[in-house]
Amino acid sequence: MPVNMVDDEFMVCTDCLMIIANDDASGLDYSLGEEEGAAREQEIRKAIAVIQREEGQIAVGDGDRYVEFSSRPCACCGIRLAGPRHHFVILGSDRER
Ligand SMILES: [Zn+2]
Repeated sequence: MPVNMVDDEFMVCTDCLMIIANDDASGLDYSLGEEEGAAREQEIRKAIAVIQREEGQIAVGDGDRYVEFSSRPCACCGIRLAGPRHHFVILGSDRER
């Protein structure tokens, strides 16, 4: 079955990377403190849920396309803080629209 690539360059921040790839938000607590970390985690999980509902499945991309420093906003949570961006892709679901 052909995979429908919705977005072949979905660049996300390190916070989103941890949650998308490892389902692990413990790094947020570490960098932000428990309360702010939990709020940030909710924000990211909400963003992920919307993307998966409206666009498709977020999949790990090409590690070679990792960017060490970018001022582009994170494609997932939208954070504008410049920093590393990790390459992911979005694969379309096969359901009819
Ligand atoms: Zn992000």
